Amino acid sequence: MAGKGPEVIVIGAGIIGASIAWHLTRAGARVTILEASKPGGVATPNSFSWINSNFHFPREYFVLRHHSMEEWRRLSEALPQLPVSLSGSIYLPAKGLELNEFVARNTAWGYRIELIDAERVKQREPNLALETEVAALAHDEGAVEAEQVAALMTAAAVDEGAELRIGIRVDGFALEGERVTGVCVGDETLSADEVVVAAGVATPELVREVGYDLPLSMPPGLLAHTKPVSRILNGLVLAEGLHMRQKANGQILAGSDFQGAELAEDPESGGEELMRRLHAGLNSSEPLVLERTSTGYRPTPADGLPVVGRLPGVAGLGVAVMHSGVTLCPAVGAMVADEVLTGHRHELLAPFGTERFLKAPITAARV
Ligand SMILES: Cc1cc2nc3c(=O)[nH]c(=O)nc-3n(C[C@H](O)[C@H](O)[C@H](O)COP(=O)(O)OP(=O)(O)OC[C@H]3O[C@@H](n4cnc5c(N)ncnc54)[C@H](O)[C@@H]3O)c2cc1C
Repeated sequence: MAGKGPEVIVIGAGIIGASIAWHLTRAGARVTILEASKPGGVATPNSFSWINSNFHFPREYFVLRHHSMEEWRRLSEALPQLPVSLSGSIYLPAKGLELNEFVARNTAWGYRIELIDAERVKQREPNLALETEVAALAHDEGAVEAEQVAALMTAAAVDEGAELRIGIRVDGFALEGERVTGVCVGDETLSADEVVVAAGVATPELVREVGYDLPLSMPPGLLAHTKPVSRILNGLVLAEGLHMRQKANGQILAGSDFQGAELAEDPESGGEELMRRLHAGLNSSEPLVLERTSTGYRPTPADGLPVVGRLPGVAGLGVAVMHSGVTLCPAVGAMVADEVLTGHRHELLAPFGTERFLKAPITAARV
């Protein structure tokens, strides 16, 4: 049932908006989710959806991601219907990835990762066709089916009393002085005590309305989805030029590397190339047949880090936009809900506020 707390509009029902809306609703807010298209998002359905914290991140970003990995356990206990698999990843040697150093550094930061030999690789992934003498096993990594997670969390928020309005594209904000009092949809104004923008790559055009210039790039990424096969992969495998995992429905999902932009330039030949790598990397008694490719655009703030928080100078308005929104979904959802409802800003979010891109104070006069 809807709570008696403040009225909050959440713009966007991708994995970030869905998580914020669900956490807010659970905490007693009266939430309305406005979604231009349908629950599930735009970036979210085209994501590789790997949960991790392990690259050359600044320490504070590593810590936030690591915290969110644990938070996935909390979320999947609260919502057991979510398709979440935390079955670990193995990393094979690759250019630019020195496994000894990688494991040592991550272990020093409290990550559960270890070097394993060829025999253990074979035990974990007997169908792997790539030869290796050594690999790194990250025990707590995993993946989710992100589009379903977003749709199921949105539905769970609705079950708890949130209102979902689909096909509603927000054009701008209603303002009284320096406070946002709602959103504009065509000629209509929908009022709220608080508004949270979780609109993925569309976030900059919305917040520009209140004078905030959010620098965001949208690097593309191509993924190949095979037809479903019986289970042949137990966890994620990250190899040179090939990242792969098996989805809950049996499809193998393959991407190239952390960017994969060059393959996305021509999805047809890029898809063929990914399938060639997949055939070389994985043994399957059933044929691995390409069902489709997908190209997604990562909502990536200019410094590569999440932008989460209130806009200084504009009361009642917050944003949450990031790459790695799948990894960060549970932590960001809980932290944003808490900040909106209590004003308490979680210490792990401190480095990721909106103020770092502020060139000049926002004032109502500029709107
Ligand atoms: C190829 C690829 C691989 C990736 N791999 C990973 C990975 O392995 N691990 C990881 O953690 N992350 C990964 N990501 C990133 C991750 O998918 C994104 O960070 C995440 O999906 C962003 O979710 P979101 O809810 O912010 O945005 P979206 O999913 O884009 O949702 C935004 C929603 O807002 C709605 N909207 C927009 N404008 C308006 C408006 N004006 N009014 C109303 N509604 C509006 C849209 O319709 C959409 O539904 C990957 C992304 C891509 C593309």
